[in-house]
Amino acid sequence: MFLFILLYILSFPYSDEVSSNNLKNSDFTDDIINDCDIIYWDSVIRYNLGNDIIEIRINGKSSDKYILINLHENEVTSINAAKEIIDNFGGYFIYISQSGERNIKFTLDSIPYAFDPNRIFTREGIKKTMHNLGNFSLEAENEVFKFANYLLDFLTKDSVCIIAVHNNYDGNYSAKSYYRKNKQDAKRVYINPSEDVDDFFFVVQERDFDFFKSQGYNVVLQDNENVNDDGSLSVYCGKNNIRYINVEVQEGKLQTQYKMILSAINYLSEK
Ligand SMILES: [Zn+2]
Repeated sequence: MFLFILLYILSFPYSDEVSSNNLKNSDFTDDIINDCDIIYWDSVIRYNLGNDIIEIRINGKSSDKYILINLHENEVTSINAAKEIIDNFGGYFIYISQSGERNIKFTLDSIPYAFDPNRIFTREGIKKTMHNLGNFSLEAENEVFKFANYLLDFLTKDSVCIIAVHNNYDGNYSAKSYYRKNKQDAKRVYINPSEDVDDFFFVVQERDFDFFKSQGYNVVLQDNENVNDDGSLSVYCGKNNIRYINVEVQEGKLQTQYKMILSAINYLSEK
């Protein structure tokens, strides 16, 4: 009976929240998601991480073509651009929500921990980001590892391509970084002199590099063998042969990001 009521709540198309008051823990939430064909529309999963709650916000419904994800909640332009795309063209967009900041914080046994959510998709990455941002313990690392796998289940379940959306700041990280500082991470780099280097695609498969280059966009192809293992989603996808396109745009340039995401989904829909 409990399960029936729960399924009813989950299947209601405009239900706002999937609350963990009903779902005793996040593993149970996972079972429900994997076992049923649920259409989500502006829903929220409250994920228990240590003694805290992370919200996984879901817009749209599953698409076999692509899934959009934002991992850094402070990169507001990318969230707004992805939401507009979903509103206008359908598809599926998820983002992680906690405090509006880049890093996620949680406590476990009264000890505070923090991590960058785009550094958690390998064990090595989790260790590095937790050490960089403060405390570390094996128990806390395992909590983060479970959270990463929960996200990966979502991202790889139905869609043939993950489209990540990120923002950077003028003159900081850009496609040009792969000529210098991040040189070992890239196999190929294409920069169109008439485009802003802050706006570029970052991909893990050669065919995607060729396509975006042919369209005149700046594009970087990850070197999947030699890339530095920082635990980012691109590293995970590159190592596991998962199609991944990152739409990286300077913060504030909403129309540029919208146009680039649209170019990616049109391209994927042609196949
Ligand atoms: Zn980011």
